[in-house]
Amino acid sequence: MRVANLDGRLAVVREDIAVDVELASGRLFGPDPQAIYDRWAAFRAWALSLDSDAPWAPFDARLLRSPAPRPRQVFAIGLNYGEHAAESGFARPGTPPVFTKFPTCITGPYGEISLPAGGHTDWEVELVAVIGPGGFKIDAASAWSHVAGLAVGQDLSERILQMASPSPQFSLGKSYPGFGPIGPWLVTVDEFDDPDEVELGCFVNGEEVQKGRTSELLFPVPALLERLSHVTPLLPGDVIFTGTPSGVGMARSPQRFLAPGDELVSYVEGIGELRHRMTG
Ligand code: ZN
Repeated sequence: MRVANLDGRLAVVREDIAVDVELASGRLFGPDPQAIYDRWAAFRAWALSLDSDAPWAPFDARLLRSPAPRPRQVFAIGLNYGEHAAESGFARPGTPPVFTKFPTCITGPYGEISLPAGGHTDWEVELVAVIGPGGFKIDAASAWSHVAGLAVGQDLSERILQMASPSPQFSLGKSYPGFGPIGPWLVTVDEFDDPDEVELGCFVNGEEVQKGRTSELLFPVPALLERLSHVTPLLPGDVIFTGTPSGVGMARSPQRFLAPGDELVSYVEGIGELRHRMTG
């Protein structure tokens, strides 16, 4: 099942048709895409019962927004692919490094992203997990039952601020407006043959710059939920950026960063793609 944010309204989508959840449910569920995670189990059961008699209608994909537009907590994981840790000059971490992307950076799957003046803005395609039923001290074995679904994400990063001395500023450097695209919709976990084994990658102006598989994650999604939730409760609608594979611009020789006019396309197998144009 694909759950979408169509111009601010919660929708279930299939191919090129969609159902508006508030209208189709007789207002059993409201229109707010972020609020649905608080009632995830009931919503999921209702949405799965939708049949061809539901009011499906064609939709304009340009109206897609982030399926999790206002999470209360955003977790992001560093150095979670071995080759990316190596290209960044680090050994494989014993525990996953964690930072946040402040929620105002979240944007939808398409559109323009303004590059900070004088910065070095880099790409990081990532699998994003959105929490359905929250929990504290979740075990890895049951962790997938706490995930509402998966989306494509970009952990855009301004490297000068991120690496500032005397103390790196990961959270700030990755939180400029538009630096957290999520989309194009949420795909529920049951749609994947194996959610721990999907391909992801991104292209700059049509040139492939990153390609990896989530089976290469040093800390897979269940391990991340276990680690994070043993420190802080996970809340419905929380977002986890799970880390990026190798191929970031900072690690290239010579280094390469995004420039005004560049088109960044990011994809995760079984979900879809994001498409953004950089502006000055
Ligand atoms: Zn990242």
